Parts: sequence; structure tokens; C-alpha cells
Amino acid sequence: MQPLPPRMPSRISRRLFLAGSAAVLTGGAAMIAGCSDHESADPGSGSGTTGAVDEPTTGSTAVAPTEPTTPADTPAPTNPAPTTAAIELAGDPFTLGVASGDPTDRAVVLWTRLAPDPSNGGGMPADDVDVRWEVSVADTFDEVVAEGTATATAAHGHSVHVAAELDPGWWFYRFRVGGYTSPVGRTRTTAPSGEAGASETVRFVSASCQNYQDGFYTAHRDIADQQVDFVAFLGDYIYEGGAATIGENFVVRTHGTDEATTLEAYRNRYALYKADADLQAAHASCPWYVTWDDHEVENNYAGLVPQNLADQATFAERRRAAYQVWWEHQPVALAPPDGAADDYTIYRSARWGDLVDLVVLDGRQYRTDQACGDPGLSLDPPCPETFDESRTMLGDVQEAWLLDTLGAASATWQVIAQQTIFGDVTLGGAVLNYDQWDGYPFERNRIVDALDPAKNTVVLTGDIHFAGAGNIRQGGRGTGTPVAAEFVATSISSGGLIDPAVTEVVRAIPDIVDVELEHRGYILHTVTPDRWSAEYRMVETVKEPGAPMFVHATYVIDAGTNTARFA
Ligand code: FE
Ligand code: CA
Repeated sequence: MQPLPPRMPSRISRRLFLAGSAAVLTGGAAMIAGCSDHESADPGSGSGTTGAVDEPTTGSTAVAPTEPTTPADTPAPTNPAPTTAAIELAGDPFTLGVASGDPTDRAVVLWTRLAPDPSNGGGMPADDVDVRWEVSVADTFDEVVAEGTATATAAHGHSVHVAAELDPGWWFYRFRVGGYTSPVGRTRTTAPSGEAGASETVRFVSASCQNYQDGFYTAHRDIADQQVDFVAFLGDYIYEGGAATIGENFVVRTHGTDEATTLEAYRNRYALYKADADLQAAHASCPWYVTWDDHEVENNYAGLVPQNLADQATFAERRRAAYQVWWEHQPVALAPPDGAADDYTIYRSARWGDLVDLVVLDGRQYRTDQACGDPGLSLDPPCPETFDESRTMLGDVQEAWLLDTLGAASATWQVIAQQTIFGDVTLGGAVLNYDQWDGYPFERNRIVDALDPAKNTVVLTGDIHFAGAGNIRQGGRGTGTPVAAEFVATSISSGGLIDPAVTEVVRAIPDIVDVELEHRGYILHTVTPDRWSAEYRMVETVKEPGAPMFVHATYVIDAGTNTARFA
């Protein structure tokens, strides 16, 4: 143990995210109490303005990347962990790691969930528990720049969401409770628009679809190694299905439990996934912007319509449970859902300096049921229902918000992070997959027509378990005005859905630049004012841990062209 520097209480309260903004995350007294506790313990904190303190990082100056330390390596706490009346923990509560997300130029959400017995409801006492959180310039935590107490409530699975107000730059964070210290996470806030660093390079990942049973998370380990600025996760974080048998149908590990339909079962499912060390490493490496797709509730559900209509009577309750547990497990700057309401708004936007405007969409909660009975892969002529103009994937309110947000966006690149294939990939008039945007053509065309050809728009897509790059035009496939490029991430681990034997058939669809149907992986994006570069990183196999990664291809968009091409 090394000697510890004195605390610097004068800077702490100025960096806390007080009252209103912090309160939204827990929907109640917990976060306010945490901040208030600190305020009362630190009455002499001055004017409450920033600027008088040392600036450990400014602009895009980054703390030198360091491997997160293990709890055993961390120095003794700078002050005692909370001593909330007789916390008796059954063991290390930090089995699910740490995460951060939804960064702005002033704040980032820090997440953990206390779960000494993760697969059995968490193993926590029925009481709420106070947790200390700390942010530092280095992973040694010699210099804590922000700290506080947050309450892990039993009602929300003892999850913790702290909106930590921080200067722009890189930070390290950790949590402490009952003598235990969490793993250390690395996170960052964004460069403010108009300031130094705001137009510099941003490197980030888009990824989706991590079926635990289908494969190991080698791609997540590789994401952690990239030390990117952020991850945009496009959904299918969990899969709800029941236990498969290892060794059958290429299954390499099993859910071990029945299909999740209840609050408790969804919690156990997230805990199973989040216990994975590679996934934890990817979360600990940078902040994430997370949206959901269908499997966070049920395969191909649409709005309040379940996949199997026989489940209609109980589906609203199931969806409410799934949405709550999603919130409990994701580092999102959102208030938790109101348990009495069906709807829960998660679409939102973020800005990364002057370089990237990001919108994060919800393509599941508000959609019209898939047309024509959702037949799966179909080569038949579309049924008339397909062309009902009222069909929607986003819902009227979200669609209007999207168009307003894109219209007002002024960064160099406008990024639409969403779930399903956006471009027109109909084949001979057939809608191949009614779950994609081709099944909602009028709404898709309204959005395409609203895009400004003078801006640079990039659509990021998940869901479909293959990799692809394509271009989107106003006024007709192949010949119209290019208004956006689309990058389709393959899956982190979920099995492919299309036989690689048809690769050339898919590649021949107009405006598709390339597809790769065989491998799992993700996309590493490098964005500069002049060029967007998308490197498709893939793992040779997800059926054994630690298989080699390779680059399938890199595609680029030159600013001003709205056209992706091979690098
Ligand atoms: Fe998926
Ligand atoms: Ca999906």
C-alpha cells in the first residue's frame, strides 16, 4: 500500500451533477440523497463555479491508456466505504463489472449493479444499499476529482446509475461498498462544440447481437483493445430464448434457464451475459450509447404485438418487465420506466464535438406489426398490406423528432444508430425480410426524402447478423441522388441467418457495395472532417474462445459524397 494523498474536497462538489439532472436517473430520492449527503459534508465548497481548480485534462487530451487494475491492485480507499446500517454482503457484489454511457461534454453515466449471486436474483439483501463512486485522472485513484454516494435500490435490482459531471476528457472510475471495490472503468466526456479538439478524429465501434449460446465474445475483447472513444450498441444485447444444449446446433454455452418472460428471469439473463469477462472489458474501456432491438424482449415483437399472438394477453406486462430490466443493466442517461406505463422513451441524440451528431433510434416499441404474416425470408410478391402508408417502424412522434433533429444537425457527420437494414434491398420486387425497413417503405422513403444531400449522413445497422456496406439515394435505387451511406455490422456472436453461398446474389443488389455473410465481428469507425473510414473486424470463429481477428475490408466515405466505397 502506498501513502495516500490528501483529498481535495474543494473540487468535488463542483463536479457533482446535482439535483435535477442527477435525480432523473433514479427517479427519486436516492441520487438526490447521495449528492445532498456530500454537500452537507462539504459546506465550504466555494462558489460552485468551475475553472478555479486544476484542469487535469482539457479538450481531447487523453490520459495515457492503461489497463484497468484489478480490485486487488487498487490502493486503499481515500475515505471509508459507506457504512449503511449493517451491510452484510454474501460476497463480492461487483460480479457484473462496471460500465459508462451517454457521454456529453459535461457528464457521463457510471453504472454498476450489486450482485454477489448474479444468476439467482443477485443475492442482495432486500434493503437499499449506498454505494460510493469515485472518478480520478489515473487508475491509481491518487487524485479523486469527483465522488459521491448513490443508492442501489432493491426495486431496481440494486443497480447504480450515476450522472457524473466531469470536464471534457478521459477519466477512470470505480465503486465501493461494504469493503469491496469494483473493477476500474475508463470513460470519457466529449469535446465541446467550438472548442479545441471538437473537430479532431473520433474513433468508435458499432456492434450488435451477442447471443451467448452461439459463441464467445472474442470480438468484445478486441473492442476493448482498440481503446476507442465510444461504442454504439445497436441491440440484441441479450437473447430471451430458453436453454439450448451445448454441442447441438453449434451451441457452445447455454442460457441454462427457460425463455425469459418475467422481471426475475430477465435479470438473471442479463446477469449471465454481463458476467462475461470479455463483455466487461469492452464496457470498462469506454462509454457506450446503447439502444435495444427485439431480443431484449422477444424475437420480432412489434409494439405491443408479440411474436406469437397466443401470448397477447400477457405481453404488455412482459414488455414492461423487459424494459425495466434493460434500464437496470445499461449505462443510460434515462430515468427508469414508470412501472405503471407501457411506453418508455429511449430514442435520444448526442453530439461529439463539431464532428458527429448521433441519433439513437428505437425501431421496436412503436412499430406496426410486420406485414404479410412476417414470413421470414420471402421471395414472393409483397402482399398489399406492405404498401399501407400508415405502416410505421418509428411511430409518428419519433419520426417527427428524427426529422427535426436531423434538420437541425450541424456537425460534419449525421449518424443514425438504429437496428434494421435501412436501404432498399428488395430483390425482383420481393421484400426479402418484412422485419427490415423494406417492410415499412413509405416511412423509409419519407425519411430518405427528408435527408439533405448537402449533409453527410451515415446509417448504422445491426440485427441481421451479416456485414454489409451500401448507399442510399433519393429518387431511385442505382441512379438517384446519394444522400447517405449505410454500414451493417455483423453480430458479435449470434449465428448467421443467410447461407454464404448466396453472397454474390446479395452483392448484385443495386447500391450494395459489399456483403460478408459468414463471419462475426463489428465495425471500427474512424471519423475525420474529410473522411469516414469503416474497418470491418471479424473473428475467425466464435465457437472457441480467443480465436484470431482479421480485417475483412475497409470502406470509406469522402465528405460531400454520401457514397461508401472500398478503401
Ligand atoms: Fe440479433
Ligand atoms: Ca434483432
